[in-house]
Amino acid sequence: MSNLKHVAVVGATGAVGAEMLRCLEQRGFPVGQLSLLASARSVGKKLKFKGEDVAVTELTPESFAGVDIALFSAGGGISKEFAPHAVKAGAVVVDNSSAYRMDPSVPLIVPEINAADAKAHQGILANPNCTTAISLMALYPLHQAFGVKRIFASSYQAVSGTGAQAIEELAKQTREWAAENRAWDEPKLASQPHVYPHQIAFNAIPHVDSFLDSGYTKEEMKMENEGRKIMHHPDFRASVTCVRVPVFRAHSIAISAEFERPVSLEAARAALAGAPGLDIIDAPATKQYPLALDIAGRDNCAVGRLRLDCALDNGLAFWVVGDQLLKGAALNAVQIAELLV
Ligand code: NAP
Repeated sequence: MSNLKHVAVVGATGAVGAEMLRCLEQRGFPVGQLSLLASARSVGKKLKFKGEDVAVTELTPESFAGVDIALFSAGGGISKEFAPHAVKAGAVVVDNSSAYRMDPSVPLIVPEINAADAKAHQGILANPNCTTAISLMALYPLHQAFGVKRIFASSYQAVSGTGAQAIEELAKQTREWAAENRAWDEPKLASQPHVYPHQIAFNAIPHVDSFLDSGYTKEEMKMENEGRKIMHHPDFRASVTCVRVPVFRAHSIAISAEFERPVSLEAARAALAGAPGLDIIDAPATKQYPLALDIAGRDNCAVGRLRLDCALDNGLAFWVVGDQLLKGAALNAVQIAELLV
């Protein structure tokens, strides 16, 4: 590979794709040539990169000739179908979908945690689930300090985690409620939701991804499965409830973690203070704690509400927030690509 790379972004017109372009530009990634790929619907669209218009072309098996790095963000089905074509053409794929995450031959990377795993790639590297990546940014430094056994967690997930159509659904429902001049106790709209199974505006939906026989959802089990792989911790256990909330951007996760070794607040703060990509915002007396509205658009995740867990031995409770379009997707993918150059 030469110094300047031919980069392809698959799903360039999507919520994550747009952030990928921004991250490539802002981080000064050595892009020599850029291919923007999406469905036939987007052919003719132009997207800006470094002030220039770049035309979107249709994704086909032939799209990857000469491509060095292909950032995939168009859903698992597209990754399954097209990533092998990209690898065959000589590109290295960084995949944002869940298609390859648990494949033993595919490294699953959060660069601040397990960058060294990237070396073992065989053409495809995977980006973790967004809720998992954000949670691990705070959990992993604590694991290094105290040895995590298990966590109990609830997520508060933003609609942009579902993509561009979900952002529009929340905006539309909110506008509809306001336009009809409804009272606070008449929040249920007449219109039918399209993206989510229930109205998302003014609601909290305990259903992210599809249900498994166990009663958990696939999204909820990603924390344990992907967490084990990223932290190299096969005994890690996680009981999670994932909830979609009417927030546009940034996921929040409330975590109670139980550790092997005794925990003190001072030692926990010291472990978190040295963690890359993580800020501590923890001054409840002055109403300072991480908020989705403040963390949206920021590269760093933030942790706060640190307290000794009153129901666990060696337990710590905390609240971690991260922009899932960035650390949970585009930023992490570009950081993985940086490991390759
Ligand atoms: P999105 O806003 O719905 O965008 C989907 C993208 O995929 C669009 O660019 C779309 O192109 C493209 N696409 C759809 N069907 C296609 C086809 N048949 N051929 C080529 N391109 C096609 O979704 P998103 O939120 O960006 O998510 C994309 C992927 O990232 C998913 O795998 C998702 O699980 C993963 N991810 C998302 C997040 C997040 O926070 N949103 C976080 C982590 C991972 P058109 O515009 O032409 O339809």
